[in-house]
Amino acid sequence: MTGSVGCAPPGSTNGNGGSAEPAIGVDIGASRLKLALVDRTGAVLRSRVCPTPQTGTGPEVVDEICSAILAFRDDGPALAVAPRGTGIVVPHFSEGPDWTQRWANNMGALEGIALRPLLTKRLGGELAIANDVSAATMAEHMFGLGRGVDRLLLMAIGTGISIGVIVDGELLQYTWGTAGDTGHIVVDIEGMHECTCGARGCLETVASGTGIGRAAVRAALRGETTALAAILEAGRDISAADVAEAARQGDPMARAVFDRAAFFLGVALASFVQVFCPQLVVLAGGVTASSDLWLERLRQSLHEIGSPARLSKLQGVELSAFPHMGAAIGSAGLVLYPGLYLRDRIPTESQVDQ
Ligand SMILES: [Zn+2]
Repeated sequence: MTGSVGCAPPGSTNGNGGSAEPAIGVDIGASRLKLALVDRTGAVLRSRVCPTPQTGTGPEVVDEICSAILAFRDDGPALAVAPRGTGIVVPHFSEGPDWTQRWANNMGALEGIALRPLLTKRLGGELAIANDVSAATMAEHMFGLGRGVDRLLLMAIGTGISIGVIVDGELLQYTWGTAGDTGHIVVDIEGMHECTCGARGCLETVASGTGIGRAAVRAALRGETTALAAILEAGRDISAADVAEAARQGDPMARAVFDRAAFFLGVALASFVQVFCPQLVVLAGGVTASSDLWLERLRQSLHEIGSPARLSKLQGVELSAFPHMGAAIGSAGLVLYPGLYLRDRIPTESQVDQ
């Protein structure tokens, strides 16, 4: 991260309603780029979603992403003050001062690419970078439900599952710049379904968007009565959105899949609460679009399983204030309030290999 412009922490009187020095946040996902122009209060002044470039070499992909950022910056109404810089979010890890991209499994062209020099050349201004769940966690702490909360845990439930943790105002970043590969804690020791990580029974196998779809497939193949069987018969895979739609129409198997996912999310949170002692848990990610089907079950499961002493310190399990743009807002916040969390602590190679 660059820059050391004097600033006050979020929540101070420095927030100015967006009249000065906004920043651009860019969430680079495997399929979509989310761009947001964000002011010092965390408000999104403009936003855009467009496809992530899918072809070309790493530098070509980065060049296209930069063109999209510049077009977004220049397309809107003229600003009184130019954006201070650009915050970048990636769904994997960034190593060293040049932000070399690592473990870019879903964006293979970026693997090994030193991102910072390429961005500097095209974009100029101040730059910041963060992993997606870390950025969403910082957004919640800076501008959302986590303002003023010393111990905050954000769980992102999407294609995969991951958590971000703030303890005493510090973002935990001890493994690959994050709080670890937390979607892969083992919870389902009876099902023991094989996970993409090679282990069995990981949280992601039963409660991620992918895991929810696969659980429905397994139930349909077992012969359980469900309208979702028609999807398999048509040769298509079952998605978490399909399961949600069926559950809302009263499909018993689909409801059972969400019930089970919520139970295991509660199991996982009961353990995370023991480790991190959060005052507040915030849920984010695409699967929260169906939280009406499972959030109460998750809370119930957490309180049935977890330590009453620990849970007495927990104020709640709530949905994110930023369901769509949280990561982009968090990365813009890193530009607006440089050094607030990351403090040039992008991990070194030895830390990445932990
Ligand atoms: Zn796993």
